[in-house]
Amino acid sequence: MSAIPARTAAPRVGFVSLGCPKALVDSERILSQLKVEGYELVQRYDDADVVVVNTCGFIDAAVEESLEAIGEAIAENGKVIVTGCLGKREEVIRQAHPGVLSISGPQDYASVMRAVHTALPPRHDPFIDLVPRRASEDEIGVKLTPRHYAYLKISEGCNHRCSFCIIPSMRGDLVSRPVDEVLREAERLVRGGVRELLVVSQDTSAYGVDLRYAEREWRGRRYETRMRALCEGLAELGVWTRLHYVYPYPHVDRIIPLMAEGRLLPYLDIPFQHASPRILRLMKRPGAVERTLERIRGWRAGCPELTIRSTFIVGFPGESEAEFEELLAFLDEAQLDRVGAFAYSPVEGAGANALPDPVPEALKQERLARFMERQAAISAARLEARVGSLQRCLVDAIDGELAIARSPADAPEIDGLVQIQDGAAAGLQPGQFVEVRIMGSDEHDLYGEVAR
Ligand code: SF4
Repeated sequence: MSAIPARTAAPRVGFVSLGCPKALVDSERILSQLKVEGYELVQRYDDADVVVVNTCGFIDAAVEESLEAIGEAIAENGKVIVTGCLGKREEVIRQAHPGVLSISGPQDYASVMRAVHTALPPRHDPFIDLVPRRASEDEIGVKLTPRHYAYLKISEGCNHRCSFCIIPSMRGDLVSRPVDEVLREAERLVRGGVRELLVVSQDTSAYGVDLRYAEREWRGRRYETRMRALCEGLAELGVWTRLHYVYPYPHVDRIIPLMAEGRLLPYLDIPFQHASPRILRLMKRPGAVERTLERIRGWRAGCPELTIRSTFIVGFPGESEAEFEELLAFLDEAQLDRVGAFAYSPVEGAGANALPDPVPEALKQERLARFMERQAAISAARLEARVGSLQRCLVDAIDGELAIARSPADAPEIDGLVQIQDGAAAGLQPGQFVEVRIMGSDEHDLYGEVAR
């Protein structure tokens, strides 16, 4: 009796994703490819035939976390493939975990897939594998983020050489993706249900400079590979677009009108890092603080709704008390909405390690606490000013009676939330836009109800 050959069970892969939104995009690409090739993705070490760990190597704490994650995967499963930023420092990984199956750097999808194929050959199913499967135009990648928002990576690498950072040595100089490619990916994501696109790169304002702003065609119109043209294209998709990692360059002024017209979220994530010109020079970053403040004033005049998020480093080598005070004065002047801060910590291989006069750890922590206290009052006051307003929000989740949403001022995972107290009763669903009347605020979040 002839029998139809039984389909073998799909090979199962576990995946641990660490690091920044850019690493998350890499993870999503690898996961998409695994799915296309018929691998099953599983949540538990026990269920996996092999585990891929996508690591981060940005600061020493991230290296530690990555090494711990690799160790846990080895202890729980045994077969571990490592990729991501820390993969650039193979010796560090090999020393701690000599048993890993393979190590590759960021965006090296081919090496990860080769390692997976070696450890776990893809299932061949004669009934479905008659032709090689390709992702169709409508098929969107596997996203680690909820279905209604997605990170859109527009470039790799960075042309800056900030002295505290080793990303350029790990990821190389800026390599932009041509604008039509990015717009087509965004279009597919929106067709797949995405309602918010989060544009990420190392320096979004430098987008296209390596391609000399090459013009490409999308939907019958010519677009330059340049930040403003990209934003115009994304605006055509009719969903929220949020820009991350922008430098305060003069040409950023040109996207403010798009924000004022409601075509782009009035939100800028600009890592200022410090406000003392001397410290900025030591960091090898642009140091014209007065001009930065003027620029912020100009942006707000053009788009009063603008939310500015930033990050800072306190306790950089040589930072004097007076220079730290300059930073606090900048906070008062700039009135930023959202701020993250870190006490400086040396990163192996970074130029700043050679700078004299390190700030003692206790003093760094004390300055960090003072910085956060000063900014907390500013953030709380800016949130309070929104009480009584109507905000268009995007629902992320339903939690009991509440709908957990975000306003245009809140990027996922890093900013605050809007808790809608009658969200469940109003039948809201994740991925839905809703008008919310804001009734209260605290240091981070807003509280409101569905506007009738
Ligand atoms: S802009 Fe500076 S901190 Fe950011 S990736 Fe480039 S070198 Fe690193």
